[in-house]
Amino acid sequence: MRRVSIFGATGSIGQNTIDLIARDLPAHDVVALTGGGNIDRLAADAIRLKADVAVTAYEDRLDDLRTALAGTGVEAAAGQGALAEAADRPADWIMSAIVGAAGLAPGFRALRHGTTLALANKESLVTAGPLLMAEARAHGATILPVDSEHSAIFQALVGEDIACVEKVIVTASGGGLRDWPLERLASATPADAGAHPNWDMGQRITIDSASMFNKGMELIETREFFGLPPEKIEAVIHPQSLVHALVGYCDGALMAHLGAHDMRHAIGYALNWPDRRALPVDRLDLAKIGSLDFHAPDPARYPALRIARAVMETGGKAGTIFNAAKEVALDGFLAGRIGFMEMAGVVDAVLDALSAQFRLTIPMSSLEEVLEMDHIARQTAWAHIEKRRQAG
Ligand code: NAD
Ligand code: MG
Repeated sequence: MRRVSIFGATGSIGQNTIDLIARDLPAHDVVALTGGGNIDRLAADAIRLKADVAVTAYEDRLDDLRTALAGTGVEAAAGQGALAEAADRPADWIMSAIVGAAGLAPGFRALRHGTTLALANKESLVTAGPLLMAEARAHGATILPVDSEHSAIFQALVGEDIACVEKVIVTASGGGLRDWPLERLASATPADAGAHPNWDMGQRITIDSASMFNKGMELIETREFFGLPPEKIEAVIHPQSLVHALVGYCDGALMAHLGAHDMRHAIGYALNWPDRRALPVDRLDLAKIGSLDFHAPDPARYPALRIARAVMETGGKAGTIFNAAKEVALDGFLAGRIGFMEMAGVVDAVLDALSAQFRLTIPMSSLEEVLEMDHIARQTAWAHIEKRRQAG
């Protein structure tokens, strides 16, 4: 029996992970499931999967969770300490699918126990990539990519020599607003940006797809996870989202990974790795699909890509600042305090302001230092949003 835990179990990735595990429950011993405010979902899944413990991130929801789990034998816990305690519980495979920088600490903690961490939480790699990878190495832990593009790259690299890689191409759908005229983008609402043409994902990542902050994150994620230099990493728009990524080799071969729009492929690959097993995802009918299109992203429409490239080149503290500023910019957009196209302006302004205060290229040496920089970047971003609002 394989001991598994799922952090962010109530979200989009978490629910897809549960779907796969529930299909073969006798092979899995479910240790911990964690969630946020959706107590009913968390409790129902914890009971169905016979988890040892269910944890809500919110301390004020502990009583609700206790009530929902009364008499079931599933333990209830809440808050940051409980999340850390859940990450300390022995498990062979842990899904890291909390959204945002909140996913960093539990993932870090789990690595200390030498576990296999299936990493959907891309923010961990963007904000603290070198530390996270070093932590895994120090404890003999394995990190497996779950982002579809990175799972695709990982699969295209099997049996190959990374030294022979000339470039990695990450594909992007272009997001929900890709066909809008450029001048209309400034007026896009969260509802407009929150509809994805191809994938069904959580709200934050869907809006990040429309702005391509998600793709910017993924370029940085590629650099951190595979250790490739920025000039070998590219993004291309591919509206069908069927090719998830391509790896170009020194002999001119380009290995593409294709698959249906279903995160259960990448999750299942990480769950079964190093084996490949049958998965309940649609098979592609190429003759029916007919054609695949690719084109270069328009820099005026997607400033996030330019910023992400600068962040990759700077390294050091830049990823932490980028991630934090982008999360706050998204909060500001969701709250109606800034417009869709202003998000990039906020991230630019925070990077500029903090590069005047800190030597960004100097790497950080501890998780505490990362969290401190994350905090400073968030404060700077909110102050900038407020200043913009006052300026009218
Ligand atoms: P989601 O919003 O659907 O779910 C997020 C989960 O995190 C929920 O369980 C929520 O309760 C929990 N959570 C939220 N805030 C928390 C906090 N402060 N502390 C603890 N838990 C908290 O998000 P998602 O779309 O499933 O994405 C999860 C992660 O996977 C993100 O990092 C995202 O970028 C990445 N990812 C998602 C997809 C996708 O298809 N959804 C694809 C690739 C990568
Ligand atoms: Mg992705």
